[in-house]
Amino acid sequence: MRPGEERPLEGGACSGVSQLELLKLRAAERIDEAAERLGALSRAIWSEPELAYEEHRAHGVLTRFFEREPPAASWAVQPHYQLATAFRAEWEPLGVRAARRPLQLGFLCEYDALPGIGHACGHNLIAEVGAAAALGVKGALEGLPGPPPPVKVVVLGTPAEEDGGGKIDLIEAGAFKNLDVVFMAHPSQENAAYLPDVAEHDVIVKYYGKASHAAAYPWEGVNALDAAVLAYNNLSVLRQQMKPTWRVHGIIKSGGVKPNIIPSYSELIYYFRAPSMKELPVLTKKAEDCFRAAALATGCTVEIKGGAHDYYNVLPNKSLWKAYIENGKKLGIEFISEDAKLNGPSGSTDFGNVTFVVPGIHPYFYIGSNALNHTEQYTEAAGSQEAQFYTLRTAKALAMTALDVIFKPELLEKIKEDFKLQLQEEEFLNTVE
Ligand SMILES: [Zn+2]
Ligand SMILES: [Zn+2]
Repeated sequence: MRPGEERPLEGGACSGVSQLELLKLRAAERIDEAAERLGALSRAIWSEPELAYEEHRAHGVLTRFFEREPPAASWAVQPHYQLATAFRAEWEPLGVRAARRPLQLGFLCEYDALPGIGHACGHNLIAEVGAAAALGVKGALEGLPGPPPPVKVVVLGTPAEEDGGGKIDLIEAGAFKNLDVVFMAHPSQENAAYLPDVAEHDVIVKYYGKASHAAAYPWEGVNALDAAVLAYNNLSVLRQQMKPTWRVHGIIKSGGVKPNIIPSYSELIYYFRAPSMKELPVLTKKAEDCFRAAALATGCTVEIKGGAHDYYNVLPNKSLWKAYIENGKKLGIEFISEDAKLNGPSGSTDFGNVTFVVPGIHPYFYIGSNALNHTEQYTEAAGSQEAQFYTLRTAKALAMTALDVIFKPELLEKIKEDFKLQLQEEEFLNTVE
């Protein structure tokens, strides 16, 4: 096939509109037809918010959704896939002629909420986008009059994004093996194809000292609160020498029990963030020196325990990003800038780790409200009827981009090339299978 050429589709086309464009329209129609079911799915998750790794009801809602999607048993659903609240649902078109390995496209659903404020990050809408986009691709391929291309649509339910990093557990369990491209989208205040979410390392720091009467014989004590305070101040001093793109933020979780007892134990929790996995260890090393210095100064012993998983920065995939913008614009999505890149403040996501093992896209989308993520106002917006239009429009843009990947082999090649170049730039060896 020549560069730029589309994989031939069966069936006729209206004059002036390519067959692929008609197929994209069909995907959008299928999503609209399922709008009520998709809205109910999202509302069910929203109305009973559950924390990371405890999303049992959401897991039930999503797996039942795919099990009941007409026609019966069209999706092969694996509940409790690798993790208690993860799942996998797969669909392959019938009558595929080619014997070669199918192209495997992954659609990711998140569904964990935040403590106290429910779905303030709108992950119920992420679940809806993932499900809707997968239904759209399936619907479009089912309508092909001739033999369908060898494609597998894989929906992965990925729990625990807000805490823990469920996608990292799933990567380690091999869930992303064989996937060629992955898609998801995250609710925001803006429409953006890419936001450079940063790498993150978390630590819990414990100081052990010795209790003593603080008035009668304080010299017998070893003050663990002093160590925590010194550590806090050491890190505050370090900030002047930090790159402007680095972030250090922490709390003193435990600092003693009573003023007349020299605190024998203190505990801090800190998050460190940097734009790349190359820089993150540099920052972590400097911060750990600050913690150790505080222990030395006070005579305490220190224990520094890293979190189970580091969140990696999200790698861009420009070819995928460009295709998404093109499709989004056709649907009337107004992007934040010409290149649709959001350069504002960013957090971290376990989708970053995914982009180190498989090419992927994680665009952000407006949901009809200016409320900020992680606020009660955003919880309200994520459960509103108004958010539905924007959520389904984003799902359509993702489904259309997936169809581009299926029917434009040249695009898939470019996506793979971009992926390789990004990994080289990060000096990162792709060792995770
Ligand atoms: Zn989120
Ligand atoms: Zn969040």
